[in-house]
Amino acid sequence: MTDAKPSSWCGKGDKPRDFAKHKPIICYDQPEAAVISKVDYDNKRFLAVTGELLETLVVPKREARTWTMQAGDLCRITVHEGSQVGDMNFWNLENRQERFYSGKTRQLHASHLKVYDRLWSCLPHLRPMATFVFDTLAKYGIDEDGGALHDVIGTRCDDYTYKLITGKQRVGSCHSSLVKAVVEERGMCEQDVHDVWNIFMCTGFTRDTQQYFCKPSPAQKGDFIEFIAEMNLLVALSCCPQGDVSVPVGAEVPDDKCHPLKVEVFRQK
Ligand SMILES: [Zn+2]
Repeated sequence: MTDAKPSSWCGKGDKPRDFAKHKPIICYDQPEAAVISKVDYDNKRFLAVTGELLETLVVPKREARTWTMQAGDLCRITVHEGSQVGDMNFWNLENRQERFYSGKTRQLHASHLKVYDRLWSCLPHLRPMATFVFDTLAKYGIDEDGGALHDVIGTRCDDYTYKLITGKQRVGSCHSSLVKAVVEERGMCEQDVHDVWNIFMCTGFTRDTQQYFCKPSPAQKGDFIEFIAEMNLLVALSCCPQGDVSVPVGAEVPDDKCHPLKVEVFRQK
């Protein structure tokens, strides 16, 4: 015999409990360093994109690549063949212990980054690593389901979670691509890969259950984003094997849903 109580039992009788209602309070007042001069950054952007094109790199579909930038350089990432989402990592080039902190970036700005928001580094550094300066998709805004682009919700697709959900073993995720790129190109290790800036991906949380959702990316050929480095950076980008994210996780992603992304680095003359 068990003397377990019914699951509704709370030990205080059957009275429903009332909770006081409060209006949401924004947790973090934006620090001065998180609010930039838009005019200054529009000028910096203009000087960089009309300056010298230092590097052009194509990240092949379902793969990842790394590159470096000096403070002040501008990086443009273009959907140059077809709709595609990307997962990005950032490290201080001189000290790779200092790396991108998606959680704090989310708290200081929002779950999805907009032009003039910044990407922040981990504790104890907590410095701006880059500033988002241009987005051809800025007008997408926040849709009727609360979905928006370029999230810093965190993590990245990985084969460990895939196995947990599907029971199947595979190698083919942003995490495994980022690991391969940093190991082969920079002599780093799996633990160096961290939570990402999820570019061109449309995500949100369902209103009723607050579960993570995604939608097919609205990015089309020719769309691009730009950011300016605030310190010397090592950057990594994975072309997500989910492609444009129009196929649910676990299902086979057809090759024509996946595309490369073009990276260009500009410097003021
Ligand atoms: Zn991915």
